[in-house]
Amino acid sequence: PMNDTAALYGTLRRIAETVGRAEPAGRVAHYIPVLAEADPARFGMALAFPDGETIGVGEWRHRFSIQSISKVFALVLALAHRGEHLWTRVGREPSGNPFNSLVQLEYEQGIPRNPFINAGALAVTDELLDHTDQPCELMRDFLREESGAPDLDFDQRVADSEAAHIDRNAALGHLMADYGNLRHPVPQVLHHYVRQCAVEMSCEEVARAGGVVTRHGLRADGSRLLSRGDAKRVNAIMLTCGAYDAAGEFAFRVGLPGKSGVSGGIMAVVPGRYTLCVWSPGLDRRGNSVAGMDALDRFTTETGCSVF
Ligand code: GLN
Repeated sequence: PMNDTAALYGTLRRIAETVGRAEPAGRVAHYIPVLAEADPARFGMALAFPDGETIGVGEWRHRFSIQSISKVFALVLALAHRGEHLWTRVGREPSGNPFNSLVQLEYEQGIPRNPFINAGALAVTDELLDHTDQPCELMRDFLREESGAPDLDFDQRVADSEAAHIDRNAALGHLMADYGNLRHPVPQVLHHYVRQCAVEMSCEEVARAGGVVTRHGLRADGSRLLSRGDAKRVNAIMLTCGAYDAAGEFAFRVGLPGKSGVSGGIMAVVPGRYTLCVWSPGLDRRGNSVAGMDALDRFTTETGCSVF
């Protein structure tokens, strides 16, 4: 596998020149109106080494709302601050269902399948509310420090847009509350969940912030946030659950722990070596970036850097 900066940059450049030509660009997410304004053909990709050095191509410094990529950081913070207790409330099996599905929640008595579907992320936020009454601010501050970008913040327009179309996530929250698996008021949990999804970051910043997982639990400043065991587990859940009902397809094509979001971002981890982030808003029918999947597929095939 390749680890030479110049060669990796060459690979990124070749990908940026041709990405998306083989497939239609996909459709942008429509259920959050502000996201529907995006141009599906935009593209950026960044790679961050464990020491924070980054390289990138295309619009790798353009900020987008990270959406479900935030679920990785929420899980990291919940494991760091609440530990094993989290696993009494949320599972770690792939769901095989869309990210906002209600179906399994009733069969499984309000325990979401994993932390990376919306229901699971609500459980994680609820768990974090036992640690702090400001979980989304905790996450934002963590992301500022890890990415070295003290100005990054919530996109209030995106948060407001999602809050105005919250019925499905509210349904998930209320069903879980009915089963006794939310301890805080549903509106409070939703407020923090929506804001964490609305943090605006660039590919470069996401790739740097993801370093905590790539470095097996060490933060950017070298201090330990997660045990090696917990970092391993986060990577495992990214591999098995990070692309919702397309996690199998993601492993098949990309072969890395990854996490996608409906704004078209995907973060992927080559454990111990580097963190990748790609952004392109055109989505396939399961909500994953079409050009993003294509770019990561080509990256791991060309470099040999997958976990397989
Ligand atoms: N904020 C989005 C939602 O709750 C996140 C979903 C996603 O990125 N898949 O629907």
